[in-house]
Amino acid sequence: MSKYIFICGGVMSGVGKGIATSSIAKILSWYGYKVTCFKIDPYVNVDAGTMNPLEHGEVFVLKDGTECDQDMGHYERFLNQELTKVNYMTTGSIYLSLIQKERSLFFNGKCVEVVPHVPLEVIDKINQAKKLTKAEIVITEIGGTVGEYQNLLFLEAVRILKLKQPKDVILVLVSYLPYQGEGMEIKTKPTQYAIRALNSAGLQPDFVLARALFPLDDKRKEKISFNCGIDKENIISAPDEKIIYKIPLNFEKEKIGEKILRLFNLKSKSKKSKDFLKWQKELNKIKKIDQEIKIGIVGKYFKTGDFILADVYISVIEAIKHASWFLGYQPKIVWLNSEEYEVDKKRVEELKNYHGIVIPGGFGSRGVEGKILAIKYCRENKIPLFGLCYGLQLMIVEFARNVCGLKNAQTTEVNPKAKNAVIDILKEQKKLLKEKLYGGTMRLGDWECEIKRGTIAWRAYTELSRTDAEFSRRYQKNVSFSSTFGQPFPRVLKVVERHRHRYEVNPKYHKILQKNGFVFSGTSQNGLLVEIGELSQNIHPFFLGTQFHPELKSKFLHPHPLFLEFIKQSTK
Ligand code: GLN
Repeated sequence: MSKYIFICGGVMSGVGKGIATSSIAKILSWYGYKVTCFKIDPYVNVDAGTMNPLEHGEVFVLKDGTECDQDMGHYERFLNQELTKVNYMTTGSIYLSLIQKERSLFFNGKCVEVVPHVPLEVIDKINQAKKLTKAEIVITEIGGTVGEYQNLLFLEAVRILKLKQPKDVILVLVSYLPYQGEGMEIKTKPTQYAIRALNSAGLQPDFVLARALFPLDDKRKEKISFNCGIDKENIISAPDEKIIYKIPLNFEKEKIGEKILRLFNLKSKSKKSKDFLKWQKELNKIKKIDQEIKIGIVGKYFKTGDFILADVYISVIEAIKHASWFLGYQPKIVWLNSEEYEVDKKRVEELKNYHGIVIPGGFGSRGVEGKILAIKYCRENKIPLFGLCYGLQLMIVEFARNVCGLKNAQTTEVNPKAKNAVIDILKEQKKLLKEKLYGGTMRLGDWECEIKRGTIAWRAYTELSRTDAEFSRRYQKNVSFSSTFGQPFPRVLKVVERHRHRYEVNPKYHKILQKNGFVFSGTSQNGLLVEIGELSQNIHPFFLGTQFHPELKSKFLHPHPLFLEFIKQSTK
C-alpha cells in the first residue's frame, strides 16, 4: 500500500505544522496503520547542524546522529518511534544528492533540470523512507509557508505524485486565522489567499486545519468552503491548546481519522487501540493535577529582539513536562538568562525560589560565567541541579575551581589556552576544526554508556522501575534503552543515549575531580569518557550532569528516568 499525506502551512510560519503532522500520524496509528513522518526543510543547509539555534530553534539529534529540525522530536515523542536520516531532507541535501548522481553519470548524459528532477528526487526520497520504515502511510511535512519561493519545488512534487496516484495523495493545509475587533471575530481571508496560492501551484487542499485562538464556527467554515471549493466537513477546527498531546484528541472530535481513511478508501483496522486509551487516560490525569513544581532553565538562547524564543529548548521543556506529569505535578517552567547574572551577581539568589534548576546544552563563551555562578549557587544551597551536555561541562569547571582549588579552571571552548583545561576538545576533533570541517562532525547520536552501581544514575535507570509497577511496565517497553535494562539486578548496566558535542571532561583531571568527590556514574570507552557526573546524595540531593542529551529520548507516556529522578528530588 502506498498512501501519502502532505502537510503544508498557510499565512504564517510557526502555525503548528509539526504538531499537526504528529497528531495525524498518531491518529492513523490508532486506526491500526503503520505510519511514519517525513520532514522537508526548505533551507540550503545540508542539515540543521550548522545553524544557530536563534535562527532555527532547537537542533534535534536522531539516533544515527542526524542533526535535524525540532519537528522530528515531536514526531518521535508522539509516535514513540525512533527515526533516522531517511525521514529528513533539506533543499541542500536534495541538490547534493542530485549533483552526486549527475557526477556519476546516473542521468546518462541527459540535461538535469530543476523541474522535473528536483521534485522527482523528493518523491524518490519519500519512497525510500516509506520502504525502509515499512510504513503504509507516509505523512510529509513541507517546511515554510505556501507562497514562498523556496516552497514551490516541494509543492511541485505533491502535484506530480497526485497526478500519478490521484487516489493515494491527500494534501492538508494548516492555516492561521487571525481575529479582529472587539467582538474578536475570526477572519478567513488570509486563509483564502493561502488556498489560492496552492491553486496557482496546481493544487487544491483536501483538508484545511483552521488554527486559531478559538474553535472555528460553522459560519466561517461555510465561508472557506464556498469561496475555495472545499467540502465543509473537511475544514477542521484547530484552536490553540496548552497541552499539545491533546491535539490528536481534538482533531478526532471532528473525525479527521475517519475522513482521511474514507478519502483513501481504507477501513479502520482496529476499533479502540490500547495506546489511544492510555493516551486519553494520561490526559485526564493531567487535567486533575493541582500541585505545581517550579523549574528554572538557566540558558542564553532566549532573546530574539523583544521576544522570547523558548523553542530552542523544546525537548528539555517537553522532558520536564513528561516527568512532572508522570509524578503528578504541573510544571511551571521559567526562563532565566545567565547573562544577567554576569551583570549583577546577586541576582543569582533568585534561584532559591525554584524547586529545581536545569542548565541545558550550549556553545561558545557568551553567558558561560553566569551559568557557572548559577551552578555554584545551586551546589552550595543544595538546590537540585540537572546539567545537560554543556551543563555538565560547566558543573565540572565550577567544581574544579571552587572545590578542587584549580584556579582559572576552564573549558578550552572558552579559552583554548586555559592552564587548567578541565574540559578539552576530543583529539580527533582538533584536526576537523583546523580543516574547517564543521558540518556533521561532532560526536553525534547514540553511544553506549556504562552505569556505576550505587549511584543516583544507577538507581534512576533501575530501582525506580522496580518500585513503581506502572513505570516498570512502560519503561521496559521502551526499547530505545539498552537491552540489559529492566532485568532485575543487572550486573552490568549499559544505556544508550544521544550525543552532540566536541568537548569532553579532560582525562588528565579525572583523578583530582574524583578525589574531591565528583562521582563519574556513567562512562564510556573503558572509563576514558565521562558520560554522567554527580555528587553523592550525602552531600547534595541532586547535583547531576550528563554529557549526552537525555531530553531527546523522553516521550509523553515514557518519561526519561533521569528527568524523573530530578523532578522527584525537586519535589522534596
Ligand atoms: N559546546 C559543548 C561541546 O561542544 C557542549 C555541546 C552541547 O551542549 N550540545 O562539547
